[in-house]
Amino acid sequence: MGIATINPATGETIQTFEGLSDAAIARAIDMAQQSFEQYRRTSLAQRATWLHAAASLLVDERELFAKTMTVEMGKPIAAAVAEVEKCAAVCRYYADHAEQFLAPVTIETDASHSYVMYQPLGVVLAVMPWNFPFWQVFRFAAPALMAGNVALLKHASNVPQSALAIADIFKRAGFPDGVFQTLLIGADKVAQIMTDQRVKAATLTGSESAGASLAAAAGTQIKKTVLELGGSDPFIVLESADLETAVATAVTARMINNGQSCIAAKRFIVQESIADAFTQKLVEKYAALKIGDPLLPEVQIGPLATPAILQEVHQQVQDCIAAGGKVLIGGDPDAVPTRSDPALSQGNFYPPTIVANLPHTAAIAREEIFGPVAMLFRVTDLDAAIHLANDTPFGLGSSAWTQIPAERDRLIAEIEAGSVFINGMVKSDPRLPFGGIKRSGYGRELGSQGILEFVNVKTVWVK
Ligand code: NAP
Repeated sequence: MGIATINPATGETIQTFEGLSDAAIARAIDMAQQSFEQYRRTSLAQRATWLHAAASLLVDERELFAKTMTVEMGKPIAAAVAEVEKCAAVCRYYADHAEQFLAPVTIETDASHSYVMYQPLGVVLAVMPWNFPFWQVFRFAAPALMAGNVALLKHASNVPQSALAIADIFKRAGFPDGVFQTLLIGADKVAQIMTDQRVKAATLTGSESAGASLAAAAGTQIKKTVLELGGSDPFIVLESADLETAVATAVTARMINNGQSCIAAKRFIVQESIADAFTQKLVEKYAALKIGDPLLPEVQIGPLATPAILQEVHQQVQDCIAAGGKVLIGGDPDAVPTRSDPALSQGNFYPPTIVANLPHTAAIAREEIFGPVAMLFRVTDLDAAIHLANDTPFGLGSSAWTQIPAERDRLIAEIEAGSVFINGMVKSDPRLPFGGIKRSGYGRELGSQGILEFVNVKTVWVK
C-alpha cells in the first residue's frame, strides 16, 4: 500500500504522497540529532511553554484537525473533535507535571549525596497506527519532548495528512526545527532507521507482527522499545451488576472508533442468570445504532479504515460461524444501508454484529476482532468468568461489573491485564499509566510512568 489519503466512507483517493528517499531519511535523522544537542539543554519551563502553545493550537483548530482524521480513517466527527481536545489535555498535563515527575530523587547511602536523575535518551522513533491518528502520537510526544528527547514519527500510511498536521503543530508552537519530524515512509524503512546509531529508542503502537518486527530490529542494536499492541479485552458482567448501565456501556465500549480500538471491549462474559436479559438489551441497542457518513454529527458508526480491514473482519465473523457461533444481529456487509447510497456504496462499512454460542476453545475466540463485532460468552460463576477472561494471549485492559465487594476484590487481583476497570469501561487518561502484558506489549505510556520510559535513570554518588 502506498502513502495516501483515501476516504474510507467513499473509497475516493484524495491525495497520494511520495515516500522519502533514503537520503532524505538520513538528513532527517541528522537534523534530529543536531537538534537534540541544543534541545536537551532547554529548560523544562521553556518546553512547557511550547507544549502549552501546542495545546492552544489544538483547541483553536480542533474542527479542522478532526475533519482531517475523519476523512482519512472514518471515525465519527464528534469523536474526532473529542480526540483533538484530549491531545490538548495531555500536552497540558505533561507541561504542568513533568518537573515533578523528573525531579531528582535523593537516596541516603554512604555517599555525602547520592541521588537519581533523569536525562533524555536522544532521538526516539515513534511508529504509530491510524486508529487514533492524533491521540496515539500526542500521548507519546508530550512526555517524550518534555523529558528532552526529540522525535521522528513514522505514522500509518493511510493517515499522511494527520501526520503532517501534527509536525506542523509542534513547529508552530515554537519547538525548534528538528525536535519533532514526520517521515512519510513505509513500514519497510523502519528496520534500517533502527540500525542508525543516532536513533536511541523506539515506540510502536500497532499489531503484534509490527511490534515483533520492530523489537527484533531494535534487539539486534540493543535499543529500548515500548510496545502497545493488540487486545481482546474482556467485559465481565456478573449477576449483581447494574444491568442497564452495563449494557449501555457495553455498546459504547465495543463500538468506540467503529470498533477499531485496542481497548475496545471485545469479549462479553456474562453470568448465566442474567445472560438472556443482557443479550436482549444488547441486540436492541445494536439495532438502533446509526451507521453512515462519519462527517454527519448524528452518525454513530462510520466505515472501517481500509478495505483490507473490512475483509478481515468479515472473514473473522465467518470463522466464528464455522466454529459454531450464532450471529444474533449483523454479519452481512452487503446488508448495510450505506450499500444502496450512491455516495457511500464503495465505503468500508460493516454492520454492528453480535456473535453468541461461540465455544471459547475455538481459535477465533482468541483472536482480536478489529471492528464492530461483539463475542458473547456465558459463564456460571465468578471463577469461570475470571478463567475465561484470562484465557487469551492478550492482556491490555479489562472491565468488570459487580456490586459485591468480595467479587470486585478477586477481579482486581486475578485478572491478567494492564488495567482493570470496575463498573466502568476501559479508557485512557493522561493521569493513569496505560499499557499491556502478554502479547499486548510492554512498557507504559501516560502518567508518571510514561515519561520515564525514554530517559536514562542516572545514579549519582558523590563523596
Ligand atoms: P499495524 O499494521 O501494525 O500498523 C501500525 C504501524 O506500524 C503503522 O505505522 C505501520 O505502517 C507500521 N508497521 C506495520 N508493519 C510494520 C513492520 N513490519 N515493521 C515496522 N512497522 C510496521 O497496525 P494496524 O493493524 O494498522 O493497527 C491496529 C492494531 O494496533 C490493533 O492490533 C490494535 O489493537 C493495535 N493498537 C494498540 C494500541 C495500544 O495502545 N495497545 C492502540 C491502538 C492500536 P504502515 O501503515 O506503513 O504499514
